[in-house]
Amino acid sequence: MPDLPYKIVVGLEVHVQLLTKTKLFCGCLNKFGQPPNTATCPVCLGLPGSLPVMNKQAFHLALKAALALNCQIATHPGYAPGFTKWDRKNYYYPDLPKNYQISQYDLPFSHDGHLDINVHPDPKKGHTAKRVGIIRAHLEEDAGKNIHDESGRGGDTRVDLNRTGTPLLEIVSQPDMNSPEEAIAYLDELRLMLRELKVSDCEMQEGSLRCDANVNIHIPKADEPKGYAATPLVEIKNLNSFRGVGRAIAYEAQSQYEQFQKDPANFRFGKMLKTTAGWDDPRGKTVVQRRKEEAADYRYFPEPDLVPVVVTAEQIAAVKADMGELPQAQRARLEKEYGLTPYDADVLTAKGRTMVAYFEAVAKALGDGKAAANRLSDLVYPALTERHEEIDAFPMPAAALADFIKNTGGLAKMDRTAVFNVMLEKGCTLADAKTAAGIKEADAGALRAAVVEAIGKNPKAVADFKAGKEAAKMAIVGAVMKANKGAPNDVVRKLVDEELAKG
Ligand code: ZN
Ligand code: MN
Repeated sequence: MPDLPYKIVVGLEVHVQLLTKTKLFCGCLNKFGQPPNTATCPVCLGLPGSLPVMNKQAFHLALKAALALNCQIATHPGYAPGFTKWDRKNYYYPDLPKNYQISQYDLPFSHDGHLDINVHPDPKKGHTAKRVGIIRAHLEEDAGKNIHDESGRGGDTRVDLNRTGTPLLEIVSQPDMNSPEEAIAYLDELRLMLRELKVSDCEMQEGSLRCDANVNIHIPKADEPKGYAATPLVEIKNLNSFRGVGRAIAYEAQSQYEQFQKDPANFRFGKMLKTTAGWDDPRGKTVVQRRKEEAADYRYFPEPDLVPVVVTAEQIAAVKADMGELPQAQRARLEKEYGLTPYDADVLTAKGRTMVAYFEAVAKALGDGKAAANRLSDLVYPALTERHEEIDAFPMPAAALADFIKNTGGLAKMDRTAVFNVMLEKGCTLADAKTAAGIKEADAGALRAAVVEAIGKNPKAVADFKAGKEAAKMAIVGAVMKANKGAPNDVVRKLVDEELAKG
């Protein structure tokens, strides 16, 4: 990270669509890609006289996410523990026929949590841990979608109301992130966790994860009580990739600093103004949309058509028990139980729980976690990519991979890969795969003869070795390995040492 003359301060507001069967307050299917306006009913169309009914599965998933984020579950002073209610947020938009969104305002169902993240300035060197506070996570319904004519000929805008009323979890972080890398690490961790919990599929391209970034900077100022002054907040919207989030934050921070530099004496610091900006990804710029003196007035009031919810301690305990191991705990355990480096544990955990289970089965059968992790990295991951396959569909059982690793330790990397690929393609035994890959088990006598021959053919290497250049013997080992495909490297080395010692 370059040294900047200011400190970047970022808070993220993330909306994720929950993986429920139906919408939040009606029975319409919550499914991406249906023909426009076919997944609608009087409730989500906002027709008069229709009444919403809360989807229990949506609440369950939201509760799971909130507990994974270490949130308090509705502990609001003056209210019974677990008491949470719905509110109307009023605004007018073509894609919101009711003219209000059912959301949660002053009594969100969860608040005051945190997410521990790993930041990787250099992946090979491990990571630094950081804790990001969660201000609140609440449930709300989504709006529909305006589909604008993008031909440039000024055609119609159409409205698709299939998405209206689908369940969203809004997760608001504290402004605890101080670089684009930290913001991306937060999003990575959040997405991994929510996917593992099957709360959301978090596909930014399909809109099931959306992110707004609140960015400002702290500029050192000796005459300020805190030693710095804060620029007004800019909220960046329309971010459509994690990379875009990082670029937008870096751009916006630098642009705020440049504005300050233009006229430092008259620069307006403070919280009064909040600007909303869009991110123009192709041009790599933020574009100001509107400035507001105060928070917009949404005329929030309690939703009269829905009863409040009271979350019980039993419910919380049941969800916690059903949560499974979360990524951060999993990394720590993989390091401790299998001796993995932080980097290997990161990579493995990021592949998901099914991959971790596969790894553990291989490592246990083999009795060597590090070797299992290495072969996953250099053989299994590339094979999955190549075959466009997920680990659940991988044809090599963990026991077979463990057996393979155990019996191919002496092979050169190239030969090992060849044998692995044959086993995978043909589903055959290790012995058959070795034969098919043209690797024969050389007997010790033949190998020794090959070593003697190679020594005879490489007088310069022998002379160098005798003159004290230890590394020169590798030329002889290499020559033997080349002529004897599949010969165990360790055995060849030993034979070369023996034969050289004789001369
Ligand atoms: Zn509906
Ligand atoms: Mn929202």
